[in-house]
Amino acid sequence: MIKYKKETIEQDVIDDILCDLCQNTTRKSYNFEYAKIISDWGYESKKDREVWNYILCEDCADKLIDF
Ligand SMILES: [Zn+2]
Repeated sequence: MIKYKKETIEQDVIDDILCDLCQNTTRKSYNFEYAKIISDWGYESKKDREVWNYILCEDCADKLIDF
């Protein structure tokens, strides 16, 4: 027989996701809407194997694509 008991587990949950450019929230009514950009620099770059991650809100992504 397996006996179960109720336990409360504390865990990290996403509270908010902010745009890395304007710092505004990407939260919408039901979820988050954002563009995730990953720059994976190679050996021939000055950034030798660095990985950069960016989160952009929809407005900032639209401005970036417009240029
Ligand atoms: Zn933004």
